[in-house]
Amino acid sequence: EPITDVDLAKVVDQALEMLGPRIQSERVRVDWQRPEGAPKVRGGEVRLQQVVMNLMSNAMDAMAERVHRKIEITLDPSTDRVVLSVRDTGPGIDEPDRIFDPFYTTKEVSPTEGMGLGLSISYGLVQSFGGAIRGRNHPDGGAIFTVELDRAGAQE
Ligand code: ADP
Ligand code: MG
Repeated sequence: EPITDVDLAKVVDQALEMLGPRIQSERVRVDWQRPEGAPKVRGGEVRLQQVVMNLMSNAMDAMAERVHRKIEITLDPSTDRVVLSVRDTGPGIDEPDRIFDPFYTTKEVSPTEGMGLGLSISYGLVQSFGGAIRGRNHPDGGAIFTVELDRAGAQE
């Protein structure tokens, strides 16, 4: 897949659509502040979709036992680079320093569930686009992940 100018808001829309059945059955509230004039970024569309879906799936996994399940997604086009954030109302990250390590997982390993590779793969993908991905605990609770990418058309 080539690296092109990708409409990141559309990627979020598509990820939400694909995760729609799970979002509905687990009654997750989605707060998606879609910006006007969606900013384009440099990257691979399918791979970015994989990254966004990974973050949303992890958020839903984390919130499985919670009473209030909300995913808040923002896309900030006002800065030098475009920043996507995915925040949840889960219990937060146990060991933030280890989450991007391959095979690091706090989930029971099963053939279908996580093997601890989602974030390490996402890290490599975002890195290959010259971007950055970070995860931390939000001071008001839950985890927040950000993906920072170069704006389309920006000079290298
Ligand atoms: P997996 O989902 O297979 O466990 P990942 O690489 O996607 O692998 O995530 C690694 C680990 O990072 C998870 O097992 C979990 O401990 C932690 N993590 C990831 N996202 C979140 C989140 N939204 N809230 C709390 N912990 C998280
Ligand atoms: Mg995962």
